[in-house]
Order: sequence, then C-alpha cells, then structure tokens
Amino acid sequence: MARLELATSLVWTASLNITIHHSERSRRADADFDNLGFGNLFSDHMFSMEWRDGTWREAAILPYGPIALEPGTASLHYGQLIFEGLKAFRGDDGVIRLFRADANAERFRNSCERLCIPAVDTDDFVTAIKALVWEDRAWIPDRRGQALYIRPLVFGDEAHLDVRPSRRYRFLIMTSPVREYFAGGFSPIALKVEEHYTRAAPGGTGFAKTAGNYAASLLPTANSQTAGFSQVLWLDGRDHRYIEEVGQMNIFFRQEDRVVTPPLGGTILPGVTRDSVITLLRDWNIALEERPIEIDEIIDACRQGRLVEAFGSGTAAVVAPIDRIGYRGQDYPIPVDLDGGLAKRLYDEILGIQFGALPDRYEWIQTVP
Ligand SMILES: *Cc1c(COP(=O)(O)O)cnc(C)c1O
Repeated sequence: MARLELATSLVWTASLNITIHHSERSRRADADFDNLGFGNLFSDHMFSMEWRDGTWREAAILPYGPIALEPGTASLHYGQLIFEGLKAFRGDDGVIRLFRADANAERFRNSCERLCIPAVDTDDFVTAIKALVWEDRAWIPDRRGQALYIRPLVFGDEAHLDVRPSRRYRFLIMTSPVREYFAGGFSPIALKVEEHYTRAAPGGTGFAKTAGNYAASLLPTANSQTAGFSQVLWLDGRDHRYIEEVGQMNIFFRQEDRVVTPPLGGTILPGVTRDSVITLLRDWNIALEERPIEIDEIIDACRQGRLVEAFGSGTAAVVAPIDRIGYRGQDYPIPVDLDGGLAKRLYDEILGIQFGALPDRYEWIQTVP
C-alpha cells in the first residue's frame, strides 16, 4: 500500500488520500493497440470510493475486475446512477493531457444532484482521474486521434426495494484505450428524425448523464439503424417540433454565414465539446446563435440549398459531419466538405489542443501528473 502524492500546486490534493493496490500482472502486453475498438478493453486498474455513514471513504486504486453486488441493490432496479465520459491523450511531445476534466466534474455534480446522489468534490474527481491515468499511463495510445477514454460512474449500492435514495454509494472510474472514432478518416453520419419517441421531457432528466436516458434511446436508435441511418435526431418531447440533439451528441447547423445550435434548457445534455465549439466559433468571429430551431426550418434550408453544413459534437467523435437527414420518409442530403468545412476546422483545432500541437488558449488542458 502506498499513499499517493500528486505533484500539483493545488492545495486540495491533500484532501484525498488514495491507497494503491497494484495489479499483480499487467495485461498491457496482451492488448492489441493496432486494433482498438471503442470501450471493449479495460486497463489494469480502476479507482474506487465508497459513500458510507454520510461521507466518501476508502479512496483506492485497485486492479480492474468484477465487483460484488447483492441482487437487491436498488440502483439495479431503479436506475440511481450517473456517469461521465472524457479522455486523456498522449501528446506529440509525450505529455499526458486531460481535456476539460473540471467541466466534467461540474456536470457530474449537477447530474448527481438531480438523482439525489451525494456529490463528489470536483477537485477530488479530477485528482482521482489524474491518479488513475498516471497509474495506467502505459495504456494511453499515442496515435493522433486515439485516446484513453475515462469513464467515471456512481450508483447506489445499498440493497433495498423501497423506492427512495440509497444510503450507500459506490464511485468507480475505469479507463479504456480507444481508436479514433472514425476509423478510416473523418466520415459523415446520417440521421433519422424521430417523431414518435422522445429522449427527454421538460422537468425530466435530459440534462443529466444518467443510465435511464440511454436505456430509453436504444429502441429508437435500433429502429433508425434498421432504416439505414446511423443515429436518431431527437426533437423536443412536447411537440416534436424543435431540434434537440443527436444520439449522444449535440448538434450544429451552418446556414450561409451563421451557425445555429439549440439552447440548453433542461432537456439537452450540456456537452463539454458543445461548449468548446461555441467558444472557438465566437473566437473566430463566426456568428453563432443559440436558439430554438424548428425541424421545418432545417428541412426548408436543405431544400433551398441554404444549409451549408451540419455536424454533431461529443467527446467520442469530437466533431461528426452529417451528410443526410431522413424526415417523413424523405431523404435530405446535406453538403459535406471533408477538407475545407467548419466541422473539419473545429476537429483539427480541438485535436490540436488535446495533443499539445496547438496552444491551450482557453486553459482547457490539465497535465498528468
Ligand atoms: C455525453 C453526451 C453528449 C456530449 O457531451 P460531451 O461532454 O461533449 O461528450 C451529448 N448528448 C448526450 C445525450 C450525451 O450523453
């Protein structure tokens, strides 16, 4: 057992003492980094912490492996569970960088609050990630576009069948080396407008990164894929009239000289990539409007050739160009410019910052350790 001292200038690191139990044998040599998938290979260790008697305790880095849960564990039944997703990168200079981990910590806290889960201190959240990434640094790929995906997770682990918040919680972080999202290049996706099912309703949990939102999206997504699309384009839950987001990404449309994106308002997941895209567009003096967007506005713009470009944004893909929207049985093609478009420019800029090739002008990077 060792007590971890992270080299950092921030005082709060003293608040989290992490016990480290090293795995007996690393699985790293067996991992095929030339054929990485997305989230099907886990690194040697995980971070673990337990909420017992009103406080977080037992902060530890443990060998990654199965955990014991009683069948009566209430979050398995009622879904009191929150997760996050972010990445660590090994830069062209060998430096390990996290991208906006503080923003994920903040969102994690907001999500937890909605599901009555005790907050993890935002500084502890980042410290735990840094410690785990450092422990498994041999698992960070070094090819541009690949990364170590980081998945924090918290759930109630008390066994009880009455419907109430759990009194015990488990906080885990696991990591997984992942390929570039678009194997074979920066390839476009096709979206099917969903007019029957909804992802989120006003007053619901749309802004929280919680398991239930994902469970509810599986059937409509599978249907869209059967119909030949990659993802669902979600509309608002009240009237199915306004565009909200796409699959697990936020969405942007470029019409002539302006970019529009739906405003956050409780039903849309506040993406860290979304916020980064908005920051860059403003900095580049590209007109950006956050406002409600009717699906009919986008279809009209498509028909009249005014829609120049559309793309999704999210941690996994960074930026994903959209080349087709299916709406009421009709296909609407959208232009894609894989070399000169705004999507590609944003993708290159964000990746450049993540890999240390471009200056970190917005203080988005935390280095490890
Ligand atoms: C995670 C997520 C996003 C993207 O968020 P990022 O922080 O950019 O990765 C968008 N929509 C949904 C529904 C999500 O779960």
